[in-house]
Amino acid sequence: MCACRCGINVHMKDDKIRYIEGNRDHPVNREVLCAKGAAGIMQQYSPAKLQTPLKRVGERGSGEFAEISWDEVLNTATRWLHEIRHDDPKKLAFFTGRNQS
Ligand code: SF4
Repeated sequence: MCACRCGINVHMKDDKIRYIEGNRDHPVNREVLCAKGAAGIMQQYSPAKLQTPLKRVGERGSGEFAEISWDEVLNTATRWLHEIRHDDPKKLAFFTGRNQS
């Protein structure tokens, strides 16, 4: 749940996550799990979790979105990347949060 990247064991029952515990063999946390890590179960089961990709359909900041398919997402991303590749590939930068850039 954060950049510390603690090791976890996720316990399942009836195809659902029952609880998360720290992995005793992991060199970073050695079984310790903070409250935020234990709350990671909500990443799967929060009612606020997005269930499908969304596309902004209103003005930026208006909060208007429409559900779209994964095919539309991939086709859109492919088209954007294709345009950048043919225009100037140096215009592309990729970042994946915190220290994982
Ligand atoms: S258990 Fe806590 S400190 Fe470790 S990665 Fe998860 S949120 Fe970060």
